[in-house]
This record gives sequence, structure tokens and C-alpha cells, in this order.
Amino acid sequence: MKGLLWFLLAAGAFYLMMRLGFGPHRIHGSTSEKLTDPVCGMEVDPDKGYAKMYRRREYLFCSHLCLDKFDADPERFLTREQKEMES
Ligand SMILES: [Zn+2]
Repeated sequence: MKGLLWFLLAAGAFYLMMRLGFGPHRIHGSTSEKLTDPVCGMEVDPDKGYAKMYRRREYLFCSHLCLDKFDADPERFLTREQKEMES
């Protein structure tokens, strides 16, 4: 029985190492979920799309068209996003 317990512990440790070492590669370690394009509302994979820092927050856009729209009037899209988060 003791052998089985050690095997489970080793397997668990190995699993954790796999998770930490071979997880999805991100540019920013903390970003693990998809971000919502504030312009069109589409979910964008952090590995793709166009990223932009605004007010110390990173926003992700599905296309350069959405990025341009955001650049033209960031506040408009930010308030819309905030409303969605509150509801
Ligand atoms: Zn978009």
C-alpha cells in the first residue's frame, strides 16, 4: 500500500511539473484567459490579435480595423466595456 501512495505522490508531482513547465506559452505570464475585443465584443486569443496598452491595462483586438476604431475614441469603448462588466 505504501508503494502505491508514493507512486500517487510522484505522479501528482510530475503532473504539476508538466502543468508548470509545458503549459501554454504566454507573453505575459498572468494572462491565461481570452480577452474580449472591446470594439466588436469578440473573444481574442492572447497569442493572436492586436494588443494595445491603455491606462495601464492591456486590450486585445481581433483585427487592425478594431484597433483603429479604439484608437480614434478609446473612452467610448471603455465605458461600454465597463457597463458590460457591471451588468
Ligand atoms: Zn474586433
